[in-house]
Amino acid sequence: MNEFIIYNFLKLKTSFLQLNMNAEERIYQLREELNLHTYNYYVLDNATISDFEFDVKLKELEKLEKENPQLFDANSPTQRVGGEITKNFETVTHKNRMYSLDNSYSKDDLLDWEKRIHKVLGTDEVAFTCELKYDGASINLTFENGKFVKAVTRGDGFQGDDVTTNIRTIKSIPLLPNGDFVSDFEMRGEIVLPLDGFRKMNEERLQNGEEEYKNPRNTASGSLKLQDSAEVAKRPLDCLLYQMVTSERKYKTHFESLENARKAGFKVPETISLATSIDEVFEFVNYWDSKRHYLPYETDGVVIKVNNLQQQEELGYTAKAPRWAIAYKFKAEQVSTVLNEITYQVGRTGAITPVANLEPVQLAGTIVKRASLHNADQIEKLDIRVGDTVFVEKGGEIIPKIIAVDFTKRPQNSIPTKYATNCPECNTALVRTAGDAKHYCPNEFGCAPQITGRIQHFISRKAMDIDGLGGETVDLLRKEGLIENYSDLYDLKVEQIIPLERMAEKSAQNMIEGIEKSKEIPFEKVLFALGIRFVGETVAKKLAKHFKSIDNLMAADFETLIAVDEIGDRIAQSIIDFSNDLGNIQLINRLKSCGVQLQVSAESLENQTDKLNGNIFVVSGVFHRLSRNELKKAIEDNGGKVSSSISKKTTYIVAGDNMGPSKLAKAQDLGITIISEQDFIDMIN
Ligand code: AMP
Ligand code: ZN
Repeated sequence: MNEFIIYNFLKLKTSFLQLNMNAEERIYQLREELNLHTYNYYVLDNATISDFEFDVKLKELEKLEKENPQLFDANSPTQRVGGEITKNFETVTHKNRMYSLDNSYSKDDLLDWEKRIHKVLGTDEVAFTCELKYDGASINLTFENGKFVKAVTRGDGFQGDDVTTNIRTIKSIPLLPNGDFVSDFEMRGEIVLPLDGFRKMNEERLQNGEEEYKNPRNTASGSLKLQDSAEVAKRPLDCLLYQMVTSERKYKTHFESLENARKAGFKVPETISLATSIDEVFEFVNYWDSKRHYLPYETDGVVIKVNNLQQQEELGYTAKAPRWAIAYKFKAEQVSTVLNEITYQVGRTGAITPVANLEPVQLAGTIVKRASLHNADQIEKLDIRVGDTVFVEKGGEIIPKIIAVDFTKRPQNSIPTKYATNCPECNTALVRTAGDAKHYCPNEFGCAPQITGRIQHFISRKAMDIDGLGGETVDLLRKEGLIENYSDLYDLKVEQIIPLERMAEKSAQNMIEGIEKSKEIPFEKVLFALGIRFVGETVAKKLAKHFKSIDNLMAADFETLIAVDEIGDRIAQSIIDFSNDLGNIQLINRLKSCGVQLQVSAESLENQTDKLNGNIFVVSGVFHRLSRNELKKAIEDNGGKVSSSISKKTTYIVAGDNMGPSKLAKAQDLGITIISEQDFIDMIN
């Protein structure tokens, strides 16, 4: 009896175990099968199973996963239908910066580019890849241990938004790339909305009585920020990949890395091709300029890249873009329309921009109503008048341009344009200094758009990055008399904000917290935030590094200022004007007393020395202890300068492994000291 019970119990237990194991096995089997069908359908465009069969399998998997929650996997095919809601997309810093691309507009531009590359590399043996420039929203996909873990938008290139849950629903992205591929890497690509899918979406919207989407690109990028991932899953989005980033040195060329990415399951367009000269690049450009309209998605140009990855590394980056890549924009589309009126806009620095108000016209997928006229010179050059028929062009940029007037259609009684003499907002007489293309409204502290614009600039992401405070709120706070300038932000109290229109307690709280947190923003960003004319992000960085505090900067005279590398007359004068203004002095003093960082922190000062002052370095080859970027930063932090090509002015060459032979010859020729990575480290320690 006893034995019988034990026997039965054991039998039960084994069958239970077996059942469980079967479930696990079945889950893995189904996932693999469904992944394969998804790949066949969405990447290869070649269905191997009916929709119905697919759904049956997916349902089975769903059921099994529900019964076995311990086997949950965020990368399971069941997770691709979406459903998760994201209220706030978290800001994430990119591990590797996402640069933009330099543009070229002619074959000559490309030839110049090639020449520069030959010069920097010291060799003519450079092969290129040609890719189409897919027009959508850029995305960075992170894979760890061969698994998809994160998707982040480009944002400002340094940080973007985490849109992982939404991206997971895009079926052409393999969540578990297969085969013998690298395991830790980033894939960069473009989220696009293919034209067919876009048309279908619009047909549906029309049927539902909704307004049509304007163009595929904006709709694609808007889709990434939808809160409901199930909504994203329904959109026919696609992801075209164009770059792999990894520290594993498995592939020698860009082309090879993309071909292997394609084998691993990524959608790398077949259009990519190799070229050994700019002539061959141009053949590619010409071919696609006429054929691109047959592609299933929109493109706006060609991207040309140096194929060899080591050469890419040697070439490095400018402040904005890689030196090893360049974009070539296809010729823009043009239409003609009538100019109805010229109005004037006032920017945060008081700069006036004339705007052409046009008879609405369809152009490159959008309706154009306005175009910038830039400045008075431009108006004069075009000889543009109200009533004229004008040619409007749209390249990659969002704001269309007026190219020329169609003089054959000019009305007989047309009147030459007289540029505005007074500010459209505050009626102050406009000024224009010699050598400056723009007119300005000098009423800095009394002209509404300038006051609001300065505060909006102050809080913006690249400046004080104040969360919970948008442009409209700034307007509202100003109208309510709560703030007059950016230093007033720091006196705001939650109780003052809650009574405002559309302000909930939570958002008021967030806003005050955001303002409080901005006191930690480093000096270089604060300096940019102040909105001194001509002091952009890069200039602010330079000035912060050189002067180390606002007091030093404001005390500097013209000579001291222009002695700083890359600071010219125009910037120097603008800083002096700013520093001499009593209002600004008071503003700075208030920011100081609020605890805003107006000097470089002790921590970052600690790592900075003048040891390398006056020395110009060229960095070449592959390094072991420091990455190229760390090496360059170390040079700059210690007062040295980094240059990309060897010249008589070069003091040292820091040579790693595989320094190019022609570079070496040139260095020896000029008698420049070559040091190793270790020598360099010894030098600064
Ligand atoms: P831009 O925004 O004009 O500076 O151009 C850079 C952007 O072009 C990148 O952020 C990508 O989103 C996009 N892009 C499209 N196709 C490619 C491609 N084949 N290679 C590199 N970037 C591309
Ligand atoms: Zn004004």
